[in-house]
Amino acid sequence: MKQSDIRNFSIIAHIDHGKSTLADRLIETTGALTKREMAPQVLDSMDLERERGITIKAQAVRLDYQSQGHLYELNLIDTPGHVDFTYEVSRALQACEGALLVIDAAQGVEAQTLANLYLALEHDLTVIPVINKIDLPNADPDRVREELIEIGLDGTEAILVSAKQGIGIAEALDAIVERIAPPRGDSQGPLRALIFDSRFDSYKGVLVYIRVVDGALKVGDRVRFMANGAEFDVTEIGVFRPHPVAVSELQTGEVGFFAAAIKTVQDTRVGDTVTLAANPAKESLPGYRPAQPMVFSGLYPVDTNEYGRLREALEKLQLNDAALTFEPETSAALGFGFRAGFLGLLHLDVIQERLEREYNISLITTAPNVVYQVQLVNGEQIRVDNPALMPVAGDIVEIQEPVVTASIITPSDYIGAVMELAQERRGVYKDLSYIDSQRAMLTYQLPLAEIMYDFFDQLKSRTRGYASFDYQWSGYVPADLVRLDILINGEVVDAFSIIVHRDKAYHRGRALVEKLRDLIPRQLFEVPLQASIGGRVIARETVRAMRKDVLAKCYGGDISRKRKLLEKQKEGKKRMKSVGSVDIPQEAFMAILRVE
Ligand code: GDP
Ligand code: MG
Repeated sequence: MKQSDIRNFSIIAHIDHGKSTLADRLIETTGALTKREMAPQVLDSMDLERERGITIKAQAVRLDYQSQGHLYELNLIDTPGHVDFTYEVSRALQACEGALLVIDAAQGVEAQTLANLYLALEHDLTVIPVINKIDLPNADPDRVREELIEIGLDGTEAILVSAKQGIGIAEALDAIVERIAPPRGDSQGPLRALIFDSRFDSYKGVLVYIRVVDGALKVGDRVRFMANGAEFDVTEIGVFRPHPVAVSELQTGEVGFFAAAIKTVQDTRVGDTVTLAANPAKESLPGYRPAQPMVFSGLYPVDTNEYGRLREALEKLQLNDAALTFEPETSAALGFGFRAGFLGLLHLDVIQERLEREYNISLITTAPNVVYQVQLVNGEQIRVDNPALMPVAGDIVEIQEPVVTASIITPSDYIGAVMELAQERRGVYKDLSYIDSQRAMLTYQLPLAEIMYDFFDQLKSRTRGYASFDYQWSGYVPADLVRLDILINGEVVDAFSIIVHRDKAYHRGRALVEKLRDLIPRQLFEVPLQASIGGRVIARETVRAMRKDVLAKCYGGDISRKRKLLEKQKEGKKRMKSVGSVDIPQEAFMAILRVE
């Protein structure tokens, strides 16, 4: 295809504003799939993605579009929609010249609308505002146009669409052709192709998703990954329509995938540049950085015999997920397991669910934590990704924790409530501005650890569901943090150790032992629970001994009740870990998070 007839674009939106539905309509309208082949949200392929309505991997679909007798090649690159994957999104946007910014006509501009818009502008993309869901009775496109002006876009250029009813789709396609520039790039130069995603295919090996920036790629070429120098012979090149279709080459400006008998996605890092071994480019494309896990958690098999299977499962998942890291770890409480690193909580959730659902492994997951940078008295600087390994206070000069810049958009009525929440979470106020006459945007610096668990739920409940939220990593800052240990039956249970701010430590310790008292079932003996900081006990509770006649009561009478009781115990056992001589249920390990 002539370079001037190619358009590469993405669709960006706040969650639920209709990105997937619009993608479906574009695919259907251009005839890539017939109506009969269409399934809703055709690009969200993995089951889990469909169920949760999220996209984890980027997708690329080639569409043929006829406009006034002229044939265009449109490449739609669909990006992951969650903040955990911001880096992946930024690479996918780097592969485009333009973006459709979808805004719900009834909801208006939300936090992720803005975050995505800024990301698109950072990459110099042409942004086409699309006001979607104009069929809704409470749609207010004029108000949305005004909001668009407020955030620096031309509201009059917005296209009015109902993705659901198929209104305005041709206008959107025409705007893509007319407003978005064709790819530039040197067709005669040495190959430079940007990797924006990759996935593992058990027959072909890794499929590497690329946008050719300069030069061309043909079957049989020997390629080199510029970040690590690894070389492979290209066995197949293809494009998604949306089903994979083989092609003989990808030219300058085109988007597609290649296979080269690559065994793991670890070799194919998102953001890296592919070049030809025979005629390598001098410089790689800008912006590459290796994936950085932000959140860590201990993964332990409930049944110790499943350790090997857990390792195999993690290795398999890693084949398709370059951002997942894991290392063997031993816990005095939980035995042999792994400390795994994730891009964020959603990423952790997805991996945990896949381990349980697809690999059938019952897991104990310890409360996730961030990574701390610790300056030691002996001059060393270390990274601590497991609270139990935080050195004793006497050895530490300073602890730094990761912080994010958070943007919260809320109706003005709730500004006070949002500020209160941010304050409780150790937020540092940065800015307040207005999106329109009724809605404001608050900007805070917040510790990542403070928003990891229920910040979003709290925000929603305190604003009656009206606030939206987005954040970006913004570095490390010093904080007055301490390690809080939990002792059960006199022994420190390493898996329960957490890092907390000194001001919250006492309250947190108190609340934790109370919570554990309720969660740990009665044993045959009395079990003391203690919270301690630096060896000093700050709170204590007791799980009282079990009454011996719990089962005895059932004898002679109600057999089914007894069976039920035993089955319930067995069921519970699956999720229990015996620590010392005390049975602790899985919920207890997560309870740490839920305690205010
Ligand atoms: P995404 O999260 O941005 O991908 O949003 P989806 O495409 O999954 O859409 C979210 C919800 O909005 C779904 O229930 C869609 O059926 C609905 N939706 C999408 N577009 C429209 C539209 O034009 N009109 C109406 N009424 N609903 C829509
Ligand atoms: Mg979607």
